This record gives sequence, C-alpha cells and structure tokens, in this order.
Amino acid sequence: MGLRLLTAIGTLLLGTNALAQGPHEHGVVRLDVAIEPGRFTLLMESPLANLIGFERAPRTDAERQRVDAALATLNAAATLFRIDPAAGCTPGPIELNAAALEGGKPGAEQAETGHADIDASFSFKCKKGQPAFVDIGLFAAFPATQRVDVQLVIGNAQSKRTLTRPATRLSLTR
Ligand SMILES: [Zn+2]
Repeated sequence: MGLRLLTAIGTLLLGTNALAQGPHEHGVVRLDVAIEPGRFTLLMESPLANLIGFERAPRTDAERQRVDAALATLNAAATLFRIDPAAGCTPGPIELNAAALEGGKPGAEQAETGHADIDASFSFKCKKGQPAFVDIGLFAAFPATQRVDVQLVIGNAQSKRTLTRPATRLSLTR
C-alpha cells in the first residue's frame, strides 16, 4: 500500500512538471485527479485567461473584482466539484498559486511568453469509500473554459479522459 501511494504521488508530480513546460492553450484546463484510500485529490492547472480574461496583476477595480470572484469560486471546492455523495467526501485544504496576480516579478514563462497560469490543488477526505464520479463545475463557473484534459490515477492505474463543454460528469471508474 505504501509503495502504491508513493507511485501515484510520483506520477502526479512528474505529470505536473511535464505540463508546466509547454505553452498553454486558452480554453483548456489540465486536471490531475487521484483516488487513494480515504482521499480524493484534484490538481488543476489553468491559463489565467480562462478564469479572469487576462494573465497579469489586476490594474483596475473591475479587474480586482474579477480576480476576487474567481478565487472565491475556487475556494468553494465542494460547489465547484460535486463528488459522488456515496463516498462521503468532505473538503480539506485548498492551495492556490498564481504568481502573476500578485504583481511581483513575472516568472520565466510569463516573461518569455506573456502567458501565466493558476495552479490549484483541492483535497477531500472520503469516509465511506471511493467516489464513482465527480461533477465538475468549471464550465458553468468560467465561461471561457471549453475543455478539461484529465489524467486519472486510481491506485497504480492511470488513464486519460477529456471533458468537453457542456459535459460535467467525470467517471472515476477504471
Ligand atoms: Zn495565456
């Protein structure tokens, strides 16, 4: 069990690093979804443009409001990701990382390309078992989002799925 867990985490990290190197495509969100005993984790990487329409620090009150609204939506993880209720999942820690929004020095990718991402991780504890599906609310919450490319890791089994607007349900069975 311990080894399996490590493998799943290692795979996720590798996947995330690989993703970070290519230029992003507006309208597309990358989502790494992992099911482990008692735990359900989603790692999201999205162009900022999908969420707020620009990819730099906000300059006006209207832009600041868009950023605040997007962050509030992401922080409401249990609304954004409606997990199979049979699994009894409750939201745990959320991490959001978008250096471009903070107006500091742009990261290497942003400086080179003018593009910037937001990375987010959402973790849930599941008391009653493994969820069979999750309804993903990204299309409703963020109209500029057209497609979600999913990498699903269940134990040591990996598979790829694609969710295209307006579909919301991601099956979590092998
Ligand atoms: Zn971009």
